[in-house]
Amino acid sequence: MNNLPTPEELQQAWEELCAIHSRYLEEYEVKLPQSNQYNERAKSIWLAVLYYYKDGYVHKNLISRICQRDNSRLGADQQVRHLKRDGWHLTGTGGEHILDPYQPSPEWVTDQRRREGRLDATTFNELQAVYGGRCATCGAEAGKPNPRYGEDIVVLQQGHKDPSKPHTLDNIIPQCQFCNRAYRSDFTFDDKGRVRAVADVGPVQRATRAVQQKILKWLRDRLGLF
Ligand SMILES: [Zn+2]
Repeated sequence: MNNLPTPEELQQAWEELCAIHSRYLEEYEVKLPQSNQYNERAKSIWLAVLYYYKDGYVHKNLISRICQRDNSRLGADQQVRHLKRDGWHLTGTGGEHILDPYQPSPEWVTDQRRREGRLDATTFNELQAVYGGRCATCGAEAGKPNPRYGEDIVVLQQGHKDPSKPHTLDNIIPQCQFCNRAYRSDFTFDDKGRVRAVADVGPVQRATRAVQQKILKWLRDRLGLF
């Protein structure tokens, strides 16, 4: 039992994982247990331990030991693999698990897109129907005036989710001409038409000096520059 992570270390791991979830996983609706303390629920302990050991495999028996140590209500055989049903990207076999905290499980994403009907669309017309004939980003309806932009009639165009990738249906969302024009190729989008990340320098050029300095500092830290 030596060298198990301490409750303090697991609490810190839990808080870090919650921050990562809101940044990378919330948009995919990966389910996060509602716990302020890592040991409030079984799944929050599982996740805190998996995150703590994120660079290597963890056996579910070790996670079960920690569950019993830190929450007396929990049993000795924790079925950690069930986290996959909540969208977490867990891999491994034979009770050994490793967590990738930065992306949802591929199966989860596929299921989500199937539920939303995206996978069934084979033409841009069908894709527009999946979105109810509306702009994925602002919701304006094709063939009607855009409530935000006056009297011009909304036409849906093929908006690029990721401008750096090929122009396949998988990489397209319907966007009205106003949104498509306004965002140019500056951003990447998720399936729901929300901005995910910058895709070019334009948004940085138009940012304030203070924001540019913040980005520069982040990049220097990230790249290990001085
Ligand atoms: Zn729009």
